[in-house]
Amino acid sequence: MSEAGDIASLAPGPIEGVEYPLKVLYCGQCTMPLEYCDYSGQTELCRAWATQNVPDLLEGLNIDDSKGGDEKKHQTRGGKGSKPVKEKKKASGGVQKVTVQREPRGKKSVTVIKGLATFEIDLKVAAKFFAQKFACGSSVTGNDEIVIQGDVKDDLFDLIPGKWAQVTEEHIDDLGDKKR
Ligand SMILES: [Zn+2]
Repeated sequence: MSEAGDIASLAPGPIEGVEYPLKVLYCGQCTMPLEYCDYSGQTELCRAWATQNVPDLLEGLNIDDSKGGDEKKHQTRGGKGSKPVKEKKKASGGVQKVTVQREPRGKKSVTVIKGLATFEIDLKVAAKFFAQKFACGSSVTGNDEIVIQGDVKDDLFDLIPGKWAQVTEEHIDDLGDKKR
C-alpha cells in the first residue's frame, strides 16, 4: 500500500459535467458571488452592475425575479422606459450611487451632491445645470462633489433622473441634514 494511493483516494477529483477551472464572479455592487445577488436586498443595483460589467453572464443568471417575462426589466416605474445603461464600461469599480445632503451654512442651507461622476456625468455641466434650474449658485467643490447654494434637496429626486436617465431615483440616497 503506497502513500500516493491514499492521497489519491482523498482527492475529490474532477466532477463530471462541471467545467474547470471553477470561476466565481463577485458582484461589484453587493460584493457577494453573483449567485447570491438575489439575496442582497439590492437586486436592482446588482443587475445594473452586472449589465454593465458582465453582460454575457447575465444571460445565464437570474439575478432578479423576472423569469416569467420576455423583457429583463419589469421594475421600471413611471412608464418612462429608461433602460439600464449598457455598453458603457466603467473603470472605477462599479459602485454607482448619488448622495444628497442638506448642510447648514450660516443662516441658510446648501445642498451637497456627491457621486454624479460615478454615472459619468460631467460635474461642470451638472453644476451649471443646477445653477440655471434653481437660479442660485452652484459649483464643483471636490472630486465628485457639487454644492448648490440653497435647500433644493427634495427637488433633486425628480430632477436628476429627469436630466440623466442613467440615474434612477433608487440610485439617490437621501442623507438628510448634516449635523454641525
Ligand atoms: Zn450583487
